[in-house]
Amino acid sequence: MKLILIIADGIGDVPIREFNYLTPLEHGTFPHLDRLAREGICAMMHPLRRGLPAGSDTAHIAILGQDPLKTYRGRGYLEALGVGIEPTSGAIGFRVNFGTVEDGIVTDRRAGRSPRHLDELSREVRETVDIGVPFSFRAATGTRAALVLEDEGLSPEVSDGDPHHTGVYPLAIEPLDGSDAARRTASLLNSFVSQAHEVLRDHRLNAKRIEAGDLPANFLLVRGAGVRPAVPTFQEQFGASAACIAATALIRGVARCFGFDLIDVPEITGEYDTNAQAKAEATIDALKSYDFVFTHFKPTDTASHDGDPVKKEAMIEKLDAMIATIISSIPDPHDTVIALTGDHSSPCVVKDHSGEGVPFVMWGGRVRTDDVARFDERSCAKGGLGHIFAEDIVYLMMNQANKVKKFGA
Ligand SMILES: [Zn+2]
Repeated sequence: MKLILIIADGIGDVPIREFNYLTPLEHGTFPHLDRLAREGICAMMHPLRRGLPAGSDTAHIAILGQDPLKTYRGRGYLEALGVGIEPTSGAIGFRVNFGTVEDGIVTDRRAGRSPRHLDELSREVRETVDIGVPFSFRAATGTRAALVLEDEGLSPEVSDGDPHHTGVYPLAIEPLDGSDAARRTASLLNSFVSQAHEVLRDHRLNAKRIEAGDLPANFLLVRGAGVRPAVPTFQEQFGASAACIAATALIRGVARCFGFDLIDVPEITGEYDTNAQAKAEATIDALKSYDFVFTHFKPTDTASHDGDPVKKEAMIEKLDAMIATIISSIPDPHDTVIALTGDHSSPCVVKDHSGEGVPFVMWGGRVRTDDVARFDERSCAKGGLGHIFAEDIVYLMMNQANKVKKFGA
């Protein structure tokens, strides 16, 4: 039995006035999502607990079968893993933004969102900065980057240097507890940030950015300290081989913690222009070598954060076309299970994650069916699986493949 998990990030929504008080899923026409609902079994899925808005990181840990309340240790390590840094298991990871500082004041937290020359500037920082302990620093998508400190006696219990708004000074990084490790980590980070500023401030590549009409990327805003979550791999848990197809660094990082191989598809971007057909083909291709393939679709969440329901509906159409290709390419529906849901709801009117449940469907294999014929919020709430939690998902799927060990005798 082959298992495909598709997560459409932030797909759940709430009634929208310009859609006559329907959600994007209820308003649009998505024949292939509806086919999964009609032929499969549906549910309302709650990522962590009912009403609790989940981050994409904690939601994905739960979706992959582990309790984030017990295992989650911050976002920075996951982000670093996702951009291809290979931290040791004791390392501390941080999220970083290239920002713009003028006269000491943060004027733009994302350096005008232009990634021009950031790879080269990251290399300059790596080669020039010396804080006395090994570190990795790498540019990621957009103006994001990731930093990893590798040493004994470090702690993730430090505050952010990123003030999270503009018009103020960057913050000095402070220890959050009284430990020597937290004090030492804060001091190393402050040294890293100030040395990096020296490197970036008058760098010729920043002069080139300004010439090209971009803002200078002259300051590193550090936040989101994290260490590796203590989760078992899919091989250890279920004896299953697993692969992930995702563009978003955070999701790639979570998948790697669970022992997934990452499959790189150049045309997938995680943005509105992502090539969903390439993603569908990569999913089908990966099924030849892996028991479990997890395919992540990001732009539904981006449209939600942009507060644009028309765009969100267009992105769900793109998802629907991706599902069409996957369904038509699988060799045998009785030997393949597709589960589709989101990691959380992201209502366009909220422009952020919310605590409402997310439609869920499981199709193929030997699944029981129900009377639900549409994949949307009001229909899936009447689904045969009722209300489920994210941690149930891999069990429901692995059970189809007889890969869940019996509990008891
Ligand atoms: Zn998400």
